[in-house]
Amino acid sequence: MTDAHAELTKRHRAVLPEWLSLYYDEPIDVVRGEGRHVWDAEGNRYLDFFGGILTTMTAHALPEVTAAVSEQAGRILHTSTLYLNRPMIELAERVAELSGVEDPRVFFTTSGTEANDTALLLATGYRGSNQVLALRNSYHGRSFSALAVTGNRGWLPTSLSPLRTAYVHATRRRGAPFAGLPDEQFADACVADLEDVLDQLQSNVACLIAEPVQGVGGFATPPDGLLGRFKEVLDRHGVLWISDEVQTGWGRTGEHFWGWQAHGARGAPDIVTFAKGIGNGLSIGGVVARAEIMNSLSANSISTFGGSPVTAAGALANLDYLLAHDLPGNAARTGAVLRAQLDTALGRIPVVADVRGKGLMIGVELARPDGAPAPELAAFVLEETRRNGLLVGKGGLDGNVLRIAPPMSLTEPEAREGAGILLDALEKAGRR
Ligand code: PMP
Repeated sequence: MTDAHAELTKRHRAVLPEWLSLYYDEPIDVVRGEGRHVWDAEGNRYLDFFGGILTTMTAHALPEVTAAVSEQAGRILHTSTLYLNRPMIELAERVAELSGVEDPRVFFTTSGTEANDTALLLATGYRGSNQVLALRNSYHGRSFSALAVTGNRGWLPTSLSPLRTAYVHATRRRGAPFAGLPDEQFADACVADLEDVLDQLQSNVACLIAEPVQGVGGFATPPDGLLGRFKEVLDRHGVLWISDEVQTGWGRTGEHFWGWQAHGARGAPDIVTFAKGIGNGLSIGGVVARAEIMNSLSANSISTFGGSPVTAAGALANLDYLLAHDLPGNAARTGAVLRAQLDTALGRIPVVADVRGKGLMIGVELARPDGAPAPELAAFVLEETRRNGLLVGKGGLDGNVLRIAPPMSLTEPEAREGAGILLDALEKAGRR
């Protein structure tokens, strides 16, 4: 660590909250990005397999986004939702058209947390109930209500809650109920569990909020079709389905534009939330809901920064690029290449307990031979890959799952290069 770097780390620790955790023994100071690469302050170059937690959707420093942002910033940075805002209207039309939600209305926020908060406000108000359902191992953000539907102790600073929340199963976790069952029986058990929970509550339940692939939860993935089966049960009880697409949206999973589409043709969610990737680093998120639900709020509202002209213009350019270059298709193709390489670790490197995920959203779970989670090995792999010029993330309830989610413009040679570095690090981890 240089003196300047040590000094910056010290200043971070002195002035920012302790719970704003940092990756790496010597935290990284990223100062520049281009394409799928970033550079730190000392000039080291890294292949980016984490995209700032899936936030860089297309590519770093995408010229089209930079141009749209600077052109709009040169005219006016900000107006108000009390005035007409052309970039926001155009972006809302585009998102509505892509959303798959019936009779869609769109509201923009500045983050995923705020998007989920809004979705919960809509669902509880519409249904006249603060009883909600969420999935175990979930993460939906850091506000009071988003934390109230977060089922992951590592990110849950309070047990106080503005909502009444019951948790149901949809993803496997080592040692958790139903975890050992094959897909179909696992799905049957989860559906029966949901029915049982609804039966036991005997109350008006507002909604179920679910990530189609659990991001912070270590890319834990429900079997395809399960959330569609949940929808049938929810529909019978009039319960709304909120799909949190903050990580899975915009074709990240390769096979579908939205994560929920892997769950059957039983109809779209009532509410979809999004953030992260749409802005390619700009601070924008939002909610798409059926008009009847969106318009059910009885008071006026305003958002000072949600969908501001600059972020909306940048997001539009980003979406245009994504669609024009078929990056969802690329996520499927390069994701398959990456996955095939990483799958070779299964059985060969004993600490690799699972490789999972979809498209360019791949999780590698590390465990000891007795099945105990190995967060220390995940931390080792992070250090080792960084030393060799690759950034990956980690997650999971026990911090033992490596998370791989590069910008969606990843090329095949980059996929192979990154997989090589990662496999080497995993082999070293296997010898520890
Ligand atoms: N939902 C999911 C699925 C997420 O992964 C995150 C962020 N990790 C959020 C919501 C919260 O988004 P933000 O950090 O933009 O508030």
